[in-house]
Amino acid sequence: MLGEAPLAVAAGELWYFWERGLLEDRLCACGAAFSECPFWVQVLDVAPELRAAEGDMRQFLQREGRSRHMRRWTSARQRRRRTSPDDQAALERLAVMYRTISEASECPVIVDSSKSPTYGGMLALVPGIDLYVINLVRRPEAVTHSWQRTVLQRDTPGKTYRDQMGTLKSAGLWTLWEAGARGLVRSVGRRGLTVRYEDFVANPGPTLSSIGRLVPELASSPALQPGSSEVVLSPSHFLSGNPNRFTTGAVALRADDEWRQHARPGSRTLVRLITAPLARRVGYTSAP
Ligand SMILES: [Zn+2]
Repeated sequence: MLGEAPLAVAAGELWYFWERGLLEDRLCACGAAFSECPFWVQVLDVAPELRAAEGDMRQFLQREGRSRHMRRWTSARQRRRRTSPDDQAALERLAVMYRTISEASECPVIVDSSKSPTYGGMLALVPGIDLYVINLVRRPEAVTHSWQRTVLQRDTPGKTYRDQMGTLKSAGLWTLWEAGARGLVRSVGRRGLTVRYEDFVANPGPTLSSIGRLVPELASSPALQPGSSEVVLSPSHFLSGNPNRFTTGAVALRADDEWRQHARPGSRTLVRLITAPLARRVGYTSAP
C-alpha cells in the first residue's frame, strides 16, 4: 500500500532476497518466478555480483538472524561496534542491492516489509541508506492465533506459509520480536514510529498521516481515498511475504478478528499472561 506513492517502491521482504529469491527461485508478486521476473532480472543484470554472493549472504543472514544476536543489532551502541570483515562485506552487498533496486524502479524510497528487527538493525549500518523504521504491532492474542493457523504457500506447493506454532512458543516469540522491534525503533530516534494494526484497520487515515509526517515521500499514496476503507493496489514485484501479496485491484480493509471466535479461552489466557508486560506498553490493556 505504501508502495503506491509515486516516489516509493514496495519490494517485499528483502531479508529473503538471497534465500527465497536467488536460491529458491520463488514467485514474485507479478506471478513470474524470481529468475524470470523482468524487474529482478534487470536488478541482477546491473549487479551480477549479488548472485555471486548468494551462498555467503544466506549464511551470514541465517547466522546473524538468530535470536541471540538480536540485541547486538537492534541497539545503536552495540551495532556500531560491528566491524568484522564479514560484517563489512555483507553490508556492502546490501548497499549494492538497495541502490540497484532504487535505480531499477526509479524510486528514491524503498518500502521493505522484512519483519526481522535484527535485519532492520543491519540496514542502519548500510552505506547510502537513510533508515526509517515503522513497527506495525498487533494484539498478541490475534498474532498467536494466526501463527497457529495454516496458510498455504502459493509459490511452494504442499508447503505452508509459516510453520504452525504452539501457544507458548508463539507468545514467547511475540514478546521477543516486539521487544526487538521497540529496541530498533528507539535506536533510530525520531526516524522511528510504532503503529497499531487495530487502529490502522479501524481508521487508516490517521496512521497514514503519521507515516507521511515521518517520510514525506509516502504522504502522497493514492491507494486510499479520503474517507474510504478500500485500497487500490497495482501489480508489483513484491518479493516473499504473505500470500495476499498477489492480490491487486480494489481491496476492502477489514479487521481479521477470527481469533475472537476461534482462539481457545485457555490459550488466550496463557498468551495474555506471558505477553502482558510488553502488551501493556503498546496500549493493549483491557481484555478485548
Ligand atoms: Zn516480478
